[in-house]
Amino acid sequence: MQYDVVVIGSGPGGYVAAIRCAQLGLKTACIEKYATFGGTCLNVGCIPSKALLDSSEHYHNAAHTFATHGIKLKDLKVDMPQMIKRKNEVVQKNTAGISFLFKKNKITSYQGMGSFVDKNTIKITKADGTEETITGTNVIIATGSKPSQLPFLPIDKKRIITSTEALTLTEVPKHLVLIGGGVIGLELGSVYARLGAKVSVIEFMDGIVPTMDKGLGKELQKVLTKLGMEFYLGHKVTGASVKGKEVTVNFDSPKGDKMELKGDYCLVAVGRVAYTDSLGLENIGLKVEERGRKITVNDHMETSVKGVYAIGDVVRGAMLAHKAEDEGTFVAETIAGQKPHINYNLIPGVVYTWPEVASVGQTEEQLKEKGVKYKTGSFPFKASGRAVASGDMDGFVKVLADSTTDEILGVHIIGPRAADMIAEAVVAMEYRASAEDISRMSHAHPTYTEAMREACLAATDNRPIHI
Ligand code: FAD
Repeated sequence: MQYDVVVIGSGPGGYVAAIRCAQLGLKTACIEKYATFGGTCLNVGCIPSKALLDSSEHYHNAAHTFATHGIKLKDLKVDMPQMIKRKNEVVQKNTAGISFLFKKNKITSYQGMGSFVDKNTIKITKADGTEETITGTNVIIATGSKPSQLPFLPIDKKRIITSTEALTLTEVPKHLVLIGGGVIGLELGSVYARLGAKVSVIEFMDGIVPTMDKGLGKELQKVLTKLGMEFYLGHKVTGASVKGKEVTVNFDSPKGDKMELKGDYCLVAVGRVAYTDSLGLENIGLKVEERGRKITVNDHMETSVKGVYAIGDVVRGAMLAHKAEDEGTFVAETIAGQKPHINYNLIPGVVYTWPEVASVGQTEEQLKEKGVKYKTGSFPFKASGRAVASGDMDGFVKVLADSTTDEILGVHIIGPRAADMIAEAVVAMEYRASAEDISRMSHAHPTYTEAMREACLAATDNRPIHI
């Protein structure tokens, strides 16, 4: 079969690219090696982790905050198999949704491993070993990523696990030793901490979520410590071993002292690497980058081979589903001859702990490094009527604005529904709004978003109303 576009991989990058190509009238095929569409995000990433985050938050609230609302419960229990069953149903509904969208948009799907024979010819190797070949005028590589491993710490998928296994545990760990204080580890760590596990985080850097504004990491650590999680920052893991149901994790303190922690599970969450195995890149003369094994692309997402594009986790930039989606749309429109644009500075980053953490634009550290003169306005949720009513008073909104022009340069939020609140900041910054602009816009009362307005008031002549 001959197509205008062949997409390899059906994650948020691949399936969005395929749908947009089809919308633009291009004859499109999508190849996926697994039986379900949706990639990491829908199967073992964003969606299942959020299902478990919500379930565990319900339990935590029932156990710890319902009584203050005047709701009394007896014999509260965690039914882990049911929680996992519900998570699986959520995944199933979402992946089935992609099948529906493919049919609706007349996209031909192939199940199997796609690999290059030449730049226009893709061989599909199916689970039963049979092969089929299709051709595409353009090919989009959207093969995503897989968990990184530490070379001295083999994953056995039973006691030493990655995020994928952490989404299918049928018991609550007694003691989960978490290696890595980044987004994925902290989200999953907080799931099990809320369900009653002791969670110890070992992080090599001197702060958690190290790529975000430092103020957010500090506040998040405070909140997660209140939840019962413990942190070993600046510590370096050197190895781990399993004996029966016990895992021993060895690590060095910043001073070089030898330390160890024993737990029943060890979750290794030290980042992800691009997935290009078995793609046959050598057949088209494409090499991957030394670090992170990513595929190099130009500003049009085109590789060094004409007509072969790459998007999402497999290329440079943040490993986020919405970044992959934006690139999916971008590349489809580029192939169709349009001139799309992505503002990489305004791709928000979110941590779905509770409270949530969300950030867009420049951090204070980046502005300092660039020598940009900026001003800051902060507003704590404890001064928000809505937050007091819901009992979610941890956290703050911090707005960074240019000292001279007042243009908003960065917004950093830790607080209730921060993941949704950050959208206002993205829109404002995309239209290059000033802090004064946001201060003068009506924000419904009582909502968490009033904290954004108050932070903008604080950034402009220090005039917040409620603090
Ligand atoms: P993927 O989603 O990885 O999809 C790639 C697809 O390609 C896979 O289905 C794979 O099977 C297929 N494939 C690979 N090679 C071949 C081949 N040769 N032939 C055929 N098919 C192939 N991001 C967020 O923005 N928000 C979140 O809340 C969030 N939570 C996360 C939670 C966890 C636990 C994890 C692990 C990740 C999370 N992410 C989140 C990251 C997000 O999942 C990824 O950034 C996103 O899935 C990347 O999309 P993609 O299309 O590039 O690749």
